[in-house]
Amino acid sequence: MVEQLPLKEMVGGSNPSERTHMLNLDTPLSEIYGIGPRFLARFKNLKVETVGDLLWHFPFRYEDFSRIYKIAELKAGQQATIQGIITNVTLRRSWQRKMFIVEALISDESGSIRAIWFNQPYLKNVLRKGKLASFAGKATVSKNKLYLSNPVYEFINDLEEPAETKHTGRLVPIYSETRGLTSKGIRYLVDSILKGLGEIPEFLPDLVLRANKFPEIDSAIRQIHFPENLEEAKKAKRRFAFEDLFLLQLTNVLQRLKLNQEKAVSLKVEIGWLKNIISQLPFELTITQKKSLWKIVQDLEKSRPMNRLLQGDVGSGKTIVAAIAALAAAKEDGQTVFMAPTEILANQHYQTFIKFFPDFDKGLALITSAQNKVFYGDGLETEAKKSEILKDIALGKIKIIIGTHALIQKGVAFKDLVLVVIDEQHRFGVSQRAKLLKNNKLIPHFLSMSATPIPRTLSLSIFGDLDLSMITELPKDRKTIITKVVAPANRDKAYAFIRGQVKKGRQVFVICPRIELPSAEELAEQKAGLLWQSRAFQNLEVKAVKEEYEKLKTKIFPDLRVAMLHGKMKTKEKELLMKQFKDGKIDILVSTSVVEVGVDVPNAVIMMIEGAERFGLAQLYQFRGRVGRGTHQSFCFLFTDSLAKTTQQRLSLIVEAKNGLELAEKDLEIRGPGEFLGETQTGMPDLAMKALQNPDLVKTSREAALEIIQKDPKLNAYPLLKEKLKKFFKEVHLE
Ligand code: ADP
Ligand code: MG
Repeated sequence: MVEQLPLKEMVGGSNPSERTHMLNLDTPLSEIYGIGPRFLARFKNLKVETVGDLLWHFPFRYEDFSRIYKIAELKAGQQATIQGIITNVTLRRSWQRKMFIVEALISDESGSIRAIWFNQPYLKNVLRKGKLASFAGKATVSKNKLYLSNPVYEFINDLEEPAETKHTGRLVPIYSETRGLTSKGIRYLVDSILKGLGEIPEFLPDLVLRANKFPEIDSAIRQIHFPENLEEAKKAKRRFAFEDLFLLQLTNVLQRLKLNQEKAVSLKVEIGWLKNIISQLPFELTITQKKSLWKIVQDLEKSRPMNRLLQGDVGSGKTIVAAIAALAAAKEDGQTVFMAPTEILANQHYQTFIKFFPDFDKGLALITSAQNKVFYGDGLETEAKKSEILKDIALGKIKIIIGTHALIQKGVAFKDLVLVVIDEQHRFGVSQRAKLLKNNKLIPHFLSMSATPIPRTLSLSIFGDLDLSMITELPKDRKTIITKVVAPANRDKAYAFIRGQVKKGRQVFVICPRIELPSAEELAEQKAGLLWQSRAFQNLEVKAVKEEYEKLKTKIFPDLRVAMLHGKMKTKEKELLMKQFKDGKIDILVSTSVVEVGVDVPNAVIMMIEGAERFGLAQLYQFRGRVGRGTHQSFCFLFTDSLAKTTQQRLSLIVEAKNGLELAEKDLEIRGPGEFLGETQTGMPDLAMKALQNPDLVKTSREAALEIIQKDPKLNAYPLLKEKLKKFFKEVHLE
């Protein structure tokens, strides 16, 4: 058990002067005497491997056990600390439930009370008769008698003197736990480590600390774990929240400075040519599409690299805007690379180009791991060897190159790269851009596209290095998607309706979440931002899809063409399926959340979501955006078995939402910022969430960053800050 580790003795005494100072933030936990391999493995699950990781594993709340009660004062239901002498200890086994029960009798001068622990038989030998101890727990009633159920305990020396306690008699930190690592265990370790730790060097500039009245890092880390009072904890927390935002803002400001000094190819875009291109489209661009395009064109004409974020709901038509920018570049003989997060999307972008610009004859290439193609206008499409395509790209014979982030960044040599377009990846730094260039000193223009709904003010602060364009309306021909929350009783009706639509030639998406509800531990991990990476999670998702698929295929729609798509399938398989679905060869596609990002199938008109309450609102919104892309009336059915009022209220937001931004703001109101972004967002979620929680801190941090950079653009006076910034840059993958 963690509480029996001999750690305390090994790393230092409780008195600061006794601190051995043998630990620093980089000390691996494995080097600390007393932490065995089992615990190391468990910590590893929490991504905690060094002293620093552990100390930065902050408590997510505190329990107030600060008042010490007399035993006679205790009332049923109270969370309280008592201190007394252990007057008796017994171990027995409940024959009904085959459980070990340790029972102790604790007395102080006012009276005595029983304390009970389940399934911890070793406590019989720990809680010795005659020992003085402090207990914190909930006073519970059974058979008219009060007892403490599973209280946390720690031994003390004296009942008269106030003891230096960690688990009782104070604000007690509660950590997100994992199997076999309790809050108590973590607390114990953190306490011991803090006692053996040398002073943590401060990296925030003095003037920033003073202006914001932040505690210094060394006190702040102690205060966030073991605060004297909530006020102190709050101040420490604020400091740490500020840190990240400050580093982010510094990065933004520095990036902007750096970019402003770089040169890019200035591309002439003739108005007449532009108008002509637009007039050839089978639809009219929306007003904000036009505005965005106009901004982009103006940026391209500058000799400074464009750095623009094009934000717009799913289906708002970002691709066509970016595509026209690419054509403008090609017209001036510049090359454009178009990067998509998945191969399916890369393929789709490629198809979009061919569909809307069938006469484009300057070379359009698709590079994926599954296939490589080139298109030279007039239906001239050829499969080609990748090596040949790469050669032609290097020679400048191919002007527009489409592929996945990974493939392109790995090594394509360009002749005249002038524009980089990236779908769903917000940033692309100067040196990333430079890497794409072999011997060219000019930095390409950059356009990022995103459907993540982040309110404008925040988005400006989070992506302060980017200029922002927003497409705020959906194309005119789009009908509102009829959205319904479907109660279990109406399931059959919904199925009948789906069958009717399929008979009319339409197609259907079915999205399922994993079957089992997450455990309390998983929820905590999820809160801590750890869960979305877990393989187990993915497995459960796949299992859910398989079951749903079997059910629909054999029981509900045996006469229809049902197929299944999930994240564990090979890229080729997935692409083939998506192609079949696009070509109308599949009626119903049962899928995990892989279809979430950007897939465009205009003939799909029903989005049916199982277990809708398990998804974040932004995620649901994105799912719904998969339909309503063609001219047919579309529907979104949210299936839920949950009758909870909050679920109903939350789902009704989707039913009413006009656009993603509005939804994000409302969701923020009811649930707080933690959840609307969902678990699967990558890149900036942590920071984005921190920012959302602290709009005032965003502003403060931006001002502080500007001030520091103005005074000292190279940060020469702040070597520690500089170092930190470098690390931060790497960690959040800004470069
Ligand atoms: P997203 O912004 O989600 O990337 P897309 O670019 O995939 O959206 O566009 C969704 C669909 O809408 C595509 O089929 C596209 O051709 C079409 N589209 C784009 N702009 C318009 C418009 N102004 N009017 C009608 N349809 C449009
Ligand atoms: Mg898109």
